[in-house]
Amino acid sequence: MAILVINCGSSSVKFAVFEQGSAEALVTGIVDQIGSANVGGSYKLNDGTKQKITCQVGADHTAVLAAILDALKADEALQNVAITAVGHRVVHGGEKFAEPVLIDADVLAGIRELSSLAPLHNPANADGIEAASTLFPGVPQVAVFDTAFHQTIPPHVFRYAVPDALYHEHNVRRYGFHGTSHDYVSAETIRKYDLDPVRAKVLVAHLGNGCSATAVVGGRSCDTTMGITPLEGLMMGTRSGNVDPNLHSYLAENTGMSLDEITEMLNKKSGFAGLSGISNDLRELAVAYEEGHGGARLAVEVFCFRLARELAGLTVSLDGVPDAIAFTGGIGENSKLVREKTVRYLKFLGCELDVARNEVNGGDSNGVISVEGSKGPLIAVVATNEELAIAEATAEVAQPEGN
Ligand code: ADP
Repeated sequence: MAILVINCGSSSVKFAVFEQGSAEALVTGIVDQIGSANVGGSYKLNDGTKQKITCQVGADHTAVLAAILDALKADEALQNVAITAVGHRVVHGGEKFAEPVLIDADVLAGIRELSSLAPLHNPANADGIEAASTLFPGVPQVAVFDTAFHQTIPPHVFRYAVPDALYHEHNVRRYGFHGTSHDYVSAETIRKYDLDPVRAKVLVAHLGNGCSATAVVGGRSCDTTMGITPLEGLMMGTRSGNVDPNLHSYLAENTGMSLDEITEMLNKKSGFAGLSGISNDLRELAVAYEEGHGGARLAVEVFCFRLARELAGLTVSLDGVPDAIAFTGGIGENSKLVREKTVRYLKFLGCELDVARNEVNGGDSNGVISVEGSKGPLIAVVATNEELAIAEATAEVAQPEGN
């Protein structure tokens, strides 16, 4: 019994296979550059061996998934693996999907209908579902939505102060993203540190290429920084995060940029990349920061200040000082610089960073980075694992207990 997890992007397919009940993936892999002449990829087995996946030029999502399956089927190490369910990451579930669901024709149509809210993602997710349904006839397919965890956010938090009709007629509201990660990491934080599962107040900072923070009370999301799209909120690798909503009209009038060009600039040329002028990757910026590069220093300072400000703002939704703050994602798990600078801004909440613990408790060794016995929030690095969370949700929906 094995679960295949699929994450279809517009030009890539990421995948993982989990033996049911196991937290370690048997295989993880990616095929990217779909639509280009260089389409292809590789996968890695849990013993570390890496294999290539070859695809025909012009391969679409169905052909790519077929190539992935052929490669896995031909691998001697995987001969005993039988896929019994497929879990799909779907970016936008709108207000229609508040939890993982078994996919049927109505669900698939619902995912396609939500494409206006996530034009780059939902069509690719739906293509992946169709392809997997063809390749695995009769095998249950489950959709796990990035937005679903945030459906518990109350209206006074999710509504924007714009004319009411825009919500009712055009679905304009905050949805939030990275829900699978916020759900998994908040639950892990509560479990690992023995917090009260019903009352625990947890802030999760998911800091990867995209970044968002969420306030979680008793395992339920009650506020988050991303909005109707994943541009709102924190500064990110190439995304600006919050800017004055009039920036579009100001730039259109003063620079002659088109609406599309401004949107592209805010999504792809801003954040770390835009402010530093060097890179969207914090690994490179951290080196430049130490060397005293002005752009790198500014980018890191703005990122940490804004993150701290958003985390502080989210405490209003927690209705109190957090019991725990969890850092996760590539940056949250690996950057002691970002964690240190951010936590220093939050002293007024009682946050006390243990510098020595912060040095060692990132990367592969997750752990507490606040001072032992601190009266303030417990602060920890908690690794996310979205693929595992999707596999677990898929197993639960595909084979509910007792069936
Ligand atoms: P994604 O959102 O694509 O899943 P990740 O969670 O893998 O992204 O995060 C990617 C980011 O993590 C990179 O852009 C990089 O800035 C950052 N990162 C990864 N490793 C390190 C490290 N050792 N030090 C600082 N930043 C890191």
